Amino acid sequence: MKRVILFPFMAQGHLIPFMQLAHLISHRKGYTVTIVNTPSNIDTLRSLLPSTSTTIHLSSLPFNPSDHNLPPNSESTHTLPSPLHILTLLRSSESLRPHFIRLLSDLSSSDGRPPLCIIADVFVAWTVEVARDLGIHHAVFTTCGGCGTAAYFSLWLHSPHLKTPDSSFGVPGFPDGFRLDRSQISGVLKASRGADDERSYSFRRYIRLSMESDAMLCNTVEEVEALGVKALRVVSGLPVWAVGPLLRGPKPVSSLNHDSRACMEWMDSRARGSVVYVSFGSQNRVTASQMRELALGLEMSGRDFVWVVRAPVGFDPEEEFRAEEWLPEGFEERMKNRGVVVRGWAPQVEILSHASVGAFLSHCGWNSVLESLSNGVPVIGWPMGADQYYNAKVMVEELGVCVELKRGLEGEIDGGDVARVVGVVMDGGEMKRRAVEVGVKMRAAMGGGEGGERRGSSLEAFDDFFDKVEAFYNRIFHY
Ligand code: UDP
Repeated sequence: MKRVILFPFMAQGHLIPFMQLAHLISHRKGYTVTIVNTPSNIDTLRSLLPSTSTTIHLSSLPFNPSDHNLPPNSESTHTLPSPLHILTLLRSSESLRPHFIRLLSDLSSSDGRPPLCIIADVFVAWTVEVARDLGIHHAVFTTCGGCGTAAYFSLWLHSPHLKTPDSSFGVPGFPDGFRLDRSQISGVLKASRGADDERSYSFRRYIRLSMESDAMLCNTVEEVEALGVKALRVVSGLPVWAVGPLLRGPKPVSSLNHDSRACMEWMDSRARGSVVYVSFGSQNRVTASQMRELALGLEMSGRDFVWVVRAPVGFDPEEEFRAEEWLPEGFEERMKNRGVVVRGWAPQVEILSHASVGAFLSHCGWNSVLESLSNGVPVIGWPMGADQYYNAKVMVEELGVCVELKRGLEGEIDGGDVARVVGVVMDGGEMKRRAVEVGVKMRAAMGGGEGGERRGSSLEAFDDFFDKVEAFYNRIFHY
C-alpha cells in the first residue's frame, strides 16, 4: 500500500478541501490516506467521512488548547473569539511536531519505508522540516486560489505597499498591469511594518517554509485562473499543480437537520434564480450597525433572500439570537414571506446548488467562490480580509462575474447601496452567462476519463503529480 499523509490547518475552510483531496487520492489503485489533526478537528473530519471508507484513516494527535492560552474547545478557527487567536492557533500547531514524528515512524512499513509523501497545509508548513529529516517527499496544498495565494505570498515577502506612497502598487511576480490598492491589504499585513515583528513572524515563516517544499497543489482550475497559477509558480518558485475545484457535493435534503431542511423547502417554493444568498463564511462577523443596514438593503431590494446571521462583533458568538437588538424593528415579521434568516450556520453547498439562487452576497472566501461559481452563481463581493480581496479582484476583473459592494470590515455600509448592487447582479444577464461558463469549465476540469474520454485538466494535473511522486519514491527505495 502507498500511504499519503494529509495535514490540514485547523479551520473549516481547510478541512473540507483536504477531505476531498483524500477522496481523490484514495481512488488511486493501491493508495491509502491518513489525515492527521487535533482531536476535535478529527471529529469534524469523521463527520465528513462515509462510514464505509476503508482507505481513508484519521489520526488524532494530542492537543490541549489551554496549554497555548486558547479558550477551552478552541481547536478550530470558527470557535475562536477573535482574529488574534488565529495567530495563536497557527503557532500552537508546532506543539504537534513530536507527536507527528512518532506517528510517521509508527506508520512506516515493516521494511522501514516511510509513507509515500506528506501533503500539508501552507499554515502547517513546519512539516517540511520533519519531511526533510525523514527523507519524505513533501508538498504544500493551498486551499486558497492561485491569485490569492500568489498575492498573499508576494505581499508578505516583498511588502511592495511599504515601498511607495501611492495608493496603488504593482506586485512582484505578477505582470506589470496587475495592481493592488491599499484598501486591499488585510489588517495583519497593514500592522506589519515589513520587519519580522512578532505578529507577522509566523506568516512569513510559514510562507518561507512552504517555499522549501518539493511541490505545491492549489485548489483551483488552470483555465479559470491562468494568471494566478502562473504568478504562483513565479512567486513560490515551486512546481504548481492546479487540482481543483475540490468541493463536497450537496447532501440529500432528507439527511439535513430540521432548520436546514426547512430552509431548502422554502427555496423549493421560490422561482428559478430569484433568491439572494447572504453569508460571510465560517469566521467573519459584521458590526451591529452594518447588520442593520444590510437588513434594510435586503428589504429595499425587494428580492427574496436567505441570510446567515451570526452575533455581531462585540457580542458573544455563542449567545442566543437577539433579533430585537441586531435587526431593524419588525424586520423578521415584515420579511416572513420574503426571506429566511438562518441562525448561525446554513447548508451552504446545498443552497448554492439550488436552482432558486440568483446571486451570492459573499465575503469571497475561496471555498465560497468555488462553491458559487461551480454552480454558475454570480457574486456580490464584500471581501473582509486575507486573500478575499484578491479573490474578488479575479472575479471582477478577469472573470466578470462579480460586483464589489464594499471592502474590509471598517466603516459603514449603506442600505441603498446594498439594494442597488443586489439589483445589478440579480438582473445582470451577461454576468450570469459568464458565471455559468466558468461553472462549466470548473466541472470539466474534474470530469472525463470514462470511455476513453480525456480527463479534465485538474485530474490530469493530479495524476501527473502522483506519477512524479511515485517515480521519486521508487528511485529512493528501489522499487
Ligand atoms: N459554510 C457553511 N455554512 C455557513 C458558513 C460557511 O457551510 O453558514 C462553509 C462554506 O460552504 C465553505 C466554508 O464553510 O465551504 C467557508 O469557507 P470559505 O473559504 O468560503 O471562508 P472562510 O470561512 O474560510 O473565511
